Amino acid sequence: AKASGKDTYQFYSKILNAEALERLEMESSLRRALERNELELAYQPKYATQSKGICGAEALLRWTHPQRGPISPGAFIPLCEEIGLIVPIGDWVVREVCGQLNAWSDAGLAPIPVAINLSPVQFRQPDLIERLFKIVVETGVDPGLLEFEITEGATMENIALTTATLSHLQALGFHISIDDFGTGHSSLSYLKQFPINTLKVDQSFVRHLSENSKDAAIVKSIVTLAHSLGFTVVAEGVETQAQLDHLSGLGCDAIQGYLFSRPIPPQEFAGLLGSELMI
Ligand code: C2E
Ligand code: CA
Ligand code: CA
Ligand code: CA
Repeated sequence: AKASGKDTYQFYSKILNAEALERLEMESSLRRALERNELELAYQPKYATQSKGICGAEALLRWTHPQRGPISPGAFIPLCEEIGLIVPIGDWVVREVCGQLNAWSDAGLAPIPVAINLSPVQFRQPDLIERLFKIVVETGVDPGLLEFEITEGATMENIALTTATLSHLQALGFHISIDDFGTGHSSLSYLKQFPINTLKVDQSFVRHLSENSKDAAIVKSIVTLAHSLGFTVVAEGVETQAQLDHLSGLGCDAIQGYLFSRPIPPQEFAGLLGSELMI
């Protein structure tokens, strides 16, 4: 029994070591990717349900590991958050989006707002506002073209800090969305006090919208609530025409999802914007 206990220990410690090594390798690869400018952004269009045109985009991080190939942000962002690397990466994202907005503008494309995801770790940085402000000043981008998406869960961590930070962001002209709305148990009294522009209905409510009357009821309530409070509503994860029709019927302002487009490289996105101009 003693021997087998020892074997078990060795077995698990090997696994733990392998995991620790893998994490270390991922960490250093990520740091290198940031230094060498090997991270990329994909842009997913947001479509206005009324005007049926592109009304914005969400920038989403993409990373191709030199040996392992593409790794999804769901897998590498938590690691970046744990080791604090999300802060410089987050700055890189904002700078990259600003550069992209300038490039599209130089190419003669009409300006569209671009949404950027802010991790709770970034959101808690005491110098967040200064860092963001510095980037828009240096790049000359209109803050009104930048929208920050903060998850509902993150806004609930520290109400006083959230209110102050959101007020600062809004005072500088940035737009603010609450991401994954409906999943984070926010209290309606806070929703009333937060200075925000948009609620993004989480994809988990959209997925079975057409079949599940409870999901439909929830989405309907979110749209009504948002509009009563003066916010716009975006539904994410829209994959079918039936979902779109349902959401349009409920008065949802915009949708995002594979039905219209996956997140695509910036050149391709410019093509979409350009072809729209010619219609
Ligand atoms: P999110 O902010 O909720 O982003 C939406 C996710 O849904 C994206 O996954 C997007 O590609 C995916 N998606 C869009 N349309 C559809 C659809 O019709 N069906 C389905 N099934 N999925 C759809 P992605 O790009 O893998 O990103 C995952 C998460 O990683 C994001 O969730 C966000 O939390 C985080 N993330 C991505 N980029 C950044 C970033 O630059 N900074 C930070 N802090 N987080 C990021
Ligand atoms: Ca690049
Ligand atoms: Ca988002
Ligand atoms: Ca989301």
